[in-house]
Amino acid sequence: MNYRRDYIIIHHTGAEEKNAHQVKQYHLSKGWRDVGYNYIIERDGKVVPGRSLEIPGAHTRASGMNYKSIGIALIGNFQNHRPTERQLAALVDLVTCCQQKHNIPTTNVLLHREVPGAHTLCPGRYFPAGELRLNLTDPAHLWCVQVGAFKNKERALDFAARLRNLGINAFVVER
Ligand SMILES: [Zn+2]
Repeated sequence: MNYRRDYIIIHHTGAEEKNAHQVKQYHLSKGWRDVGYNYIIERDGKVVPGRSLEIPGAHTRASGMNYKSIGIALIGNFQNHRPTERQLAALVDLVTCCQQKHNIPTTNVLLHREVPGAHTLCPGRYFPAGELRLNLTDPAHLWCVQVGAFKNKERALDFAARLRNLGINAFVVER
């Protein structure tokens, strides 16, 4: 089944995990089949792919968003402090790429707490929402960098992982 992704929802993890692996272990310990988010951004700005978009997410129950959005979580509790500058820069790149791929307007990029029906402070009071929005662009005006095209998903994931190890925030999109 294919789920159209018309929204992007921004979260903090609300905890001070070491890395994306720890977030995933926590979600698996709750009996979930994978981490609930589609992407996790670590403190150093590294983007770690999470749950496949081929199945519903497990991050925003309100308004049925698990079925129609991409969930991105930044590690940290932003009720207590700001995200790192590297996290914010990586978030802009990742959101921009997702907007392009799924044709999502900036008005549909929401904080978790902005989703109708959500009762949460997520992603925390120190998350700089205004700054993020200033840096986003509607999909029609983007220039994307393509570095490879693969028939095999594993090879594409491996190639993206190698680029991330070089400090380039590459991620895989399906076309
Ligand atoms: Zn959230």
